[in-house]
Amino acid sequence: MSVTHNQLNLTPRFCRSTELMFKKLLIANRGEIALRIHRACHEMGIETVAVHSTADADAMHVRLADESVCIGPPAATDSYLNIPAIVSAAEVTGAEAIHPGYGFLSENAHFSEIVSEHGLKFVGPKPDHIRRMGDKIAAKEAVKELGLPVVPGSDGDVDSDDEALKIADDIGYPLIVKAAAGGGGRGMRVVRKREDLLSAIANCRNEAGAAFGSDAIYMERFLTKPRHIEFQIIGDQHGNCIHLGERDCSLQRRHQKILEEAPSPVITPELRAKTGERVAKAMAEMGYEGAGTIEFLYEDGEFYFIEMNTRLQVEHPVTEMITGIDLVREQIRVAAGKPLSYTQDMVQFRGHAIECRINAENPYTLQPSPGLVTQYHPPGGLNVRCDSAVYAGYRVPPYYDSMIAKLIVSGYSRDGCLMRLRRSLEEYVIDGINTSIPLHRELVDDPEFQSGDYNIHWLEKFLAERAPDKA
Ligand code: ADP
Repeated sequence: MSVTHNQLNLTPRFCRSTELMFKKLLIANRGEIALRIHRACHEMGIETVAVHSTADADAMHVRLADESVCIGPPAATDSYLNIPAIVSAAEVTGAEAIHPGYGFLSENAHFSEIVSEHGLKFVGPKPDHIRRMGDKIAAKEAVKELGLPVVPGSDGDVDSDDEALKIADDIGYPLIVKAAAGGGGRGMRVVRKREDLLSAIANCRNEAGAAFGSDAIYMERFLTKPRHIEFQIIGDQHGNCIHLGERDCSLQRRHQKILEEAPSPVITPELRAKTGERVAKAMAEMGYEGAGTIEFLYEDGEFYFIEMNTRLQVEHPVTEMITGIDLVREQIRVAAGKPLSYTQDMVQFRGHAIECRINAENPYTLQPSPGLVTQYHPPGGLNVRCDSAVYAGYRVPPYYDSMIAKLIVSGYSRDGCLMRLRRSLEEYVIDGINTSIPLHRELVDDPEFQSGDYNIHWLEKFLAERAPDKA
């Protein structure tokens, strides 16, 4: 295993006395999130180690980090999910902490245990909390015990066909069958009629067993017009836990988020404070440490818990834009045993922020579009943030998630934010590959989206009208 030292000599030299918690941190991720973590580290005077697959040797996260280590071939299972290689990379470079970002090993309790066993700090919650919340059945039980409302459904897995049919009759149709270990919008089946239930359960079990290593499933009521509203929380090792408000992630396709905004157009400051405090109190009771997101469906004025993510979320920047709080910095502080820099009273919400996820794909057919980026010009100006690891001449590899950039803009009001978003999307140039920018341009011009009156099913309908055979 060989270590490459960065020639740019960007090693941070200041802020050490006040901010130094770790001298060196390894980033177990790639792409925009690896850059995001690197930036927080350098602002804190922490040196960074990038790990990369052979396919990412020229990637921006490798170029910017102080040191880099190649950890394997392109396939993620052999590189970004290769626990021995990542831990060895931390040992040979003398890193003291590992930040997993999102995806890959970020919600792998076993990885976090191994990291600790090697005397390194895992930037994330305790393994027990990762494990418990990673199982959606156990997570629902845990939050129910803490007094949060959940979507009505089966208490856990179902033992027999007869039991499944009986529970389903109680829940009522339509209902949704979900894999306990599912994630990323996969492992879910909507069932509209009783006669389709048993085959949906069998299919869901097969898919979940193959994809997630567990075939446990559960059922819950399928809500027909909810919004997806999630609360950001962060806790420290001293028993403090605060919330940073909500994000509205209702614009989804195939249960995956496309665009997120904060605050939600339908949540009042009173409801935000009430629900946020309730959630933060529940997480403090649990002794939760680190950043986490409690996801709810919100329908007819009621919240229903669906799952918790025990990591940084893709959409965390919208929260940062309206609170001014650097979530990655807080995560690192907490991992180092420091108290949170903020009390709940210090958290202020200002203006409105929207994030567009930009994928390397045809947004209408979903055909992936890896390849050479010939021109790259990100938008700029006041309150425009572009989190991306793309540059002109970069070749998007075909092996990983298709998200290549996030455009985040904020404004004093939602309308102002939308105008800035339209202007930023107009400016954004990514040539050589297909991206989802044209879809975002259409969305921002749509009167219904502009009105804020949409739910989790809205985007599918919007797309079906444009490409009926592809939606
Ligand atoms: P994942 O872990 O795969 O992201 P989630 O449980 O968070 O799965 O659900 C993802 C999305 O699926 C939700 O945001 C919502 O759009 C949809 N969904 C999940 N549960 C329900 C439900 N009970 N009723 C309606 N839609 C649901």
